[in-house]
Amino acid sequence: MGIPVTLIPGDGIGPSITDATVRVLEASGASIDWDVQLAGLAALMQLHDPMPEATLESIRRTRVALKGPLETPIGEGYRSVNVALRKTFDLYANVRPAHVVVRGGRFDKVDIVLVRENTEGLYIGIEHFIKVGDDPKAVAESTAVITRAGSERVIRYAFEYARLHDRRKVTLVHKANILKFSQGLFLEVGRQIATEYEPQGIVFEDKIVDAMAMNLVLRPEQYDVIVTTNLFGDILSDEISGLVGGLGLAPGANIGAHAAIFEAVHGTAPDLAGKGVANPGALIFAACMMLDHLRDGARANRIRVALETTIREGTHVTRDLGGTASTDEFTDAVIAELGSPALGLAAAR
Ligand code: NAD
Repeated sequence: MGIPVTLIPGDGIGPSITDATVRVLEASGASIDWDVQLAGLAALMQLHDPMPEATLESIRRTRVALKGPLETPIGEGYRSVNVALRKTFDLYANVRPAHVVVRGGRFDKVDIVLVRENTEGLYIGIEHFIKVGDDPKAVAESTAVITRAGSERVIRYAFEYARLHDRRKVTLVHKANILKFSQGLFLEVGRQIATEYEPQGIVFEDKIVDAMAMNLVLRPEQYDVIVTTNLFGDILSDEISGLVGGLGLAPGANIGAHAAIFEAVHGTAPDLAGKGVANPGALIFAACMMLDHLRDGARANRIRVALETTIREGTHVTRDLGGTASTDEFTDAVIAELGSPALGLAAAR
C-alpha cells in the first residue's frame, strides 16, 4: 500500500504536466496511491461544480494533494478555487523556495525560502466604501487583521522549516515602524519564538519591508528563510522568483495543520494547452516539496538533481527554457537521468 495522495490534474496544461510529474515519481520508486479528483473548469464542465464535495472529501482523507493549475474566470463566473481551497483547509503558510538552476546570471548564489502568512493581514476581505455627499465611493477602507495565534503558527512553521532543512537564518519582514499595532504584533511574536530556536543555532533578524525589497536585488545571497505577512509575502515572493529567472520553475506549497496542497506557481498557460510543449519542471519541483513533507527527502533530492541536471544540460528542455523538446521528451530525459549511475553521487553531495 502506497501513501494516499489526492491528485488534481487541473485545467489547460495541468493534465499534461501532472501526467509528466506522476511518471517521474513512479520512476523514482515513490509508492503513492493517487486519488484523482477534479476541480476548476474541468469539474465545472463534468460535475457542474468547480469545487466538488468529492474532491474536498478526498483531501480531508489523504491530507495531501498535488494540484495542477486551475482556471479562474476574470470578472464574472465562479470564484477562485485556489483561494477557496486555502480557506476550506485553513492553509496558513504559503511556502515558496527559489534557487538558481542555470548558473551564469547575475545572482548565482540565491537560495531563499519565503514563508508567507496566507490567511490574515490585508487580504481577509474586510472592505467597504463610505459615502460622503453625493459620492458613494468617497472613501474606501480595508482592514488588516493580524492575530497572535495566526502569527505564531506561521512564524513557528518558518523556524521549524529552517530546523528541518538545515537552514541557519530566519528573517522576519515587517513594517512595524509605521503599523505599530498589526505589524508590531507580528514582530513581537517573531522575537519571542526566535529565543526558542537561538540555542539550536538558528539566527533571527528582522527587516523593514522597503529596505528588504532593495536588499533583495542588491544582496539576495544574504537571505535564507524569510517569513512575512500576507501582502508583503505576495509581493516579495514574486520579486524573489524574478531574481532566479521568473516563475517558470517556481513551486509552491500551501500548508495547514490538517492538510497540505502542493502546486506550480504558474497558471494554466492557455496558449500552450493541448500542444504537448509545456514545461513540467515547476510541478515536479512541487512534487519534491511534497516528498519532503512526507519525510521522503532523500528521494526528493534525487529527483531534484535529475531535473536540474536535465535543465543544465539543455538538450532536452522545452521552449520556455530555450530548447525544442516536448513535455514528454523533457520528462523522459529526467527519468533517464534518475536512472543514471552518476546521480547517486551527485545527490549524496
Ligand atoms: P500563466 O502562468 O498560465 O501563463 C503566463 C505565461 O507563462 C504564458 O505565456 C504561458 O505560456 C507561460 N507558462 C506558464 N506555465 C508554463 C509552463 N509550465 N511551461 C511553459 N510556459 C508556461 O498565467 P495567466 O495567463 O495569467 O493565467 C492563465 C490562467 O491560469 C488563469 O485562468 C489564471 O486564473 C490561472 N492561474 C492559476 C493558478 C493556480 O492554479 N495556482 C496560478 C496562476 C494563474
